[in-house]
Amino acid sequence: MLKQDRKEMANAVLKDLSAYKVCAVCGAIVDRSSETCPDCLAYRFIEDENAVSDKALDLAVKPQTALSHLDLEE
Ligand SMILES: [Zn+2]
Repeated sequence: MLKQDRKEMANAVLKDLSAYKVCAVCGAIVDRSSETCPDCLAYRFIEDENAVSDKALDLAVKPQTALSHLDLEE
């Protein structure tokens, strides 16, 4: 994913909050069907939509806090 797509990603998450959850350990936004966090391999998640919404807004403003593994191509 390209760096400039982060806001689009955040918007996509905000439009479909029920499809995502937040990792309780590292705070990454994870697809709800995922069993473990792709970032830290944790298996504890916050499935509250408000938490997902907060994190997506965070992502749009401070992208380095989540999805940092997607920066490896830079
Ligand atoms: Zn995690």
